[in-house]
Amino acid sequence: MTTDQHGHSVSNIGNSISRRVFPMRSGLSTGTGALMAGTLADAASEGNGPQLGRGAGKATAGTGRKKKSGETKTGYILGNATIITVDPKRSIITDGAIAVKGSIIEAIGKTDELKEKYSSLTFHDMNDHIIMPGLINSHVHLTQALIKGCADDVSLIEFLANRVWRMMGDYNEEEGKASADLCILEMITSGTTTFAETLLHSRYGLPGITQAVVDSGMRGVLAKSVMDVGTYASRDNIMYKGMVENGDECLKQAIEWKAKSENAGDGRINIWLGPRPVGSTTKEMLEQVAKTAREHDMGIAIHFCEVKQDVELMRDVYHQAPGDFAESIGILRDNTLLIHSVWLTDDDIRVIARNKANVAHCPASNSKLASGFCRVPELLAAGVNVCLGTDAATCDNAHDMFDAMRLAALIHKPRLLDPLLVPAETAIEMATINGAKALKKDHLIGSLEVGKKADIITIDFNHPRLVPNVNPVSAVVYSVKGSDVDNVIIDGKWIVKDRKILTMNQKAVMEKARKAIAQVLKKTGVENRSRWATGG
Ligand SMILES: [Zn+2]
Repeated sequence: MTTDQHGHSVSNIGNSISRRVFPMRSGLSTGTGALMAGTLADAASEGNGPQLGRGAGKATAGTGRKKKSGETKTGYILGNATIITVDPKRSIITDGAIAVKGSIIEAIGKTDELKEKYSSLTFHDMNDHIIMPGLINSHVHLTQALIKGCADDVSLIEFLANRVWRMMGDYNEEEGKASADLCILEMITSGTTTFAETLLHSRYGLPGITQAVVDSGMRGVLAKSVMDVGTYASRDNIMYKGMVENGDECLKQAIEWKAKSENAGDGRINIWLGPRPVGSTTKEMLEQVAKTAREHDMGIAIHFCEVKQDVELMRDVYHQAPGDFAESIGILRDNTLLIHSVWLTDDDIRVIARNKANVAHCPASNSKLASGFCRVPELLAAGVNVCLGTDAATCDNAHDMFDAMRLAALIHKPRLLDPLLVPAETAIEMATINGAKALKKDHLIGSLEVGKKADIITIDFNHPRLVPNVNPVSAVVYSVKGSDVDNVIIDGKWIVKDRKILTMNQKAVMEKARKAIAQVLKKTGVENRSRWATGG
C-alpha cells in the first residue's frame, strides 16, 4: 500500500476527493456572453482613466462624459477578447468586452453589444487576448526579493538562521524599500494586482514600504510581524539579533500603523497582524494577537504547520493538536490566513473548516524547502478556502503566480495518484476569487463582474507556446507565463500598458536593488556562491 508523508493510503483518498472536485468543471459556461450591464457608473470614484500610450489598440470612440460637478468622467472598453470572468457561473465570454468607468466595471458582454451601448467610451482592440481578473498572491515577503538566490538548496535551519535572518537582520530602511520596490515591480508586471505580505519588521521602514505600495498602484495587505522569543520550532534562540522583536512593541506598532495607513491609496492598503509561528510566538502572545485582531478589526496571517517540528512543539509544549491549539487561542477566524499548513491531520482540517479560516498554499516553497505536501485536495474537499502564494524570493525565486498555478495543478496529482485532482479551473480559483475571499475582498475583487473594482490583466497569446488556444483555462494554468501579461489595470487605472510599467521607473528600481544587495552582502559577509567554481 502506498502512503504519503502523513501516512495516509493515497489511492482511497485520491478517489474519494476526485469525485467531489471534478464536478466543479461542469459549472463552467463558455461563450454565453449575454450583456451584463450595471448602473454603478455614477458610484465609480476618482475617474482616473488610463493614459493612452503609443501602440495602444485602436481608439474608435470619444472620451467619456461630464459629471454634474463638471469633472470629466473617463471610461474605456477592452474588446475582441476571450474573458475568463471567474464570476459565480464561471462564465467564459468569447468575442467579449469589458467596459470600465472610473475604478468600476460597468459592463461585461459581447464586443458588438458593448461597443454599441457605450459608444462614447474609448475602445481598445485586444486582438484575441485573454482577459482575466488580476491575480492575488496570498503569501509573499516583499523584503526578501533582494536576497533572491542567496539561500538555495540548503537545509531549513541554514536557510533561516545563517542566510535569510542574518541578511535581513542587518537591513536598513533604504534596503527594505529597495527590496519592496523590486518585489512589487516583478509582481505587477507578471499579472499580480493584489498581494498579502506577512512579516514586516519595523527595521525595514514601514512608512517607506506603505508608500511604495501606494505609489505603485497595487493593492496590498501588509502584516506587521509579531513575536516574543528568538526561537524557531524547537531550536532555542537561533534567530539573529537584528530580527528579534518585543511582542508588546510589535502590537503597539501594528495598531499605530493601522491608524495611520489603513485604506491608504484610495482604499488599496490594509494593515494586518503577522505573528511568527509557534516557537517564535508564545501562546500568551498569540492570545494577545487574537484579542488585538478582534478589537481593531484586523486580519491575521501566520505561518502554520510549515514543518513537522511546529506540530511537535504544539503537542509537546501545549499538549494540543495544531487545529485545537489555534482554535483555543482564538486565531482561527474567517480573516485568518494559515500559510503553508503542510502537516495537518484530518482532525486539524475539520477544525480549520469549522472556523472558516483560510489556507495559503505555496507549492514552490514547500517543494524547494522540502517542507512536504500541503493536503490541498483534502482541504478543498472539506470546504476550506485555499488560496495561492509564491512565498519569498528565497524559496520561490520568481514571484510568478502563473508558475504557482501550474505547480498547484501539478504536484497533488502524483501524491494521490489521481490526475483529476486540482484541475486548471481550481488553480485559477485559488489565484483569484479564493485569494479575494481570504483577504475579505471578494465583494470588490477576485472576479470580473459588474460593480466590482476593475482589476484586470490581459494576456498576449501571440506566442508559439500559446498556439493553439483551444481551451483558455488550460492555457492559463499550464502554458502561460507571467511575461505573457501585457496590460495590467488596477482600480480602473492602467498600471502596465503594452508591457511597460507606468507607475514605476523600472530601470531605477533594478539599479537600486543591485546596489542594495551588494551593500548587504558586504556588511553581513554572507557567502553565496555556486557549488561550481565561479569567477575564473
Ligand atoms: Zn513565508
